[in-house]
Amino acid sequence: YFVTPEQFQPDTVVISGEDARHIAKVMRGKAGDKLIVSDGVSREALVEIAGIEPGEVTANIVELLDMTHEPRIKITVAQSLPKGDKLETVIQKCTEIGAVAFVPFLSERTIVQYDERKESKRLERWRKICKEAAEQAHRNIVPEVHSPLSWKLLLKSFSGYDAVYFCYEKEEGLQLRSAAAPWLSALPPQSPGRVLVIVGPEGGFSPEECLAAEEAGAVSVGLGRRILRCETAGMVAAACILYESGEMG
Ligand code: SAM
Repeated sequence: YFVTPEQFQPDTVVISGEDARHIAKVMRGKAGDKLIVSDGVSREALVEIAGIEPGEVTANIVELLDMTHEPRIKITVAQSLPKGDKLETVIQKCTEIGAVAFVPFLSERTIVQYDERKESKRLERWRKICKEAAEQAHRNIVPEVHSPLSWKLLLKSFSGYDAVYFCYEKEEGLQLRSAAAPWLSALPPQSPGRVLVIVGPEGGFSPEECLAAEEAGAVSVGLGRRILRCETAGMVAAACILYESGEMG
């Protein structure tokens, strides 16, 4: 379970809201039961339930645990908004794999019409899926899910990353591995690196978008000689980067 840093006191934690209801009603928790709680930033602990009240569970910290589940490489997946509930799949699976953030964006061939009036509801759902996936994967943090960006704003965000990989199925020579290797080997040991992985919509990127991404500093990479579904590409890229950086062991 995740709590806010304020709810994570030196000796106790307070779990509230939906999680408290889940512990009481679904898990049928009772005093003495043990749980693992994280503040989503830097602390994780084994705790023992001390009291359950409507909407609030109080627990005593038994033992602080090592934060060992987070990869050193911080991967953000930027995904052109796909149709239906495919973004939910991307968020869920890439959270399990180890991504730290998601940036949905709109590109030339994005099929869905994004309705800003429904934005808060969709964001709320994406964040809920992300939190549940983070819990199930025993992540120490809940990845961030950003509001959808325009293509132009996405291009402008490249400076916030150490490497930007633009997944392009028409890329013949450059595979993700060969693109990632020089950058990964240049990373000092134990230093974190921030990587942005960009994945296109069902209809792919236009050649103009590919050019614009390269001009803005992205490296265009291929993920093999097969065309992956738009919801598969981010998972494959994230897994390959983590493997190549020795984070799968
Ligand atoms: N038509 C299928 C669909 O509806 O999902 C395939 C879409 S594919 C064009 C969507 C995106 O996945 C591409 O824009 C690219 O970012 C990524 N992608 C798929 N296969 C890839 C590959 N072999 N190499 C690099 N990127 C790939």
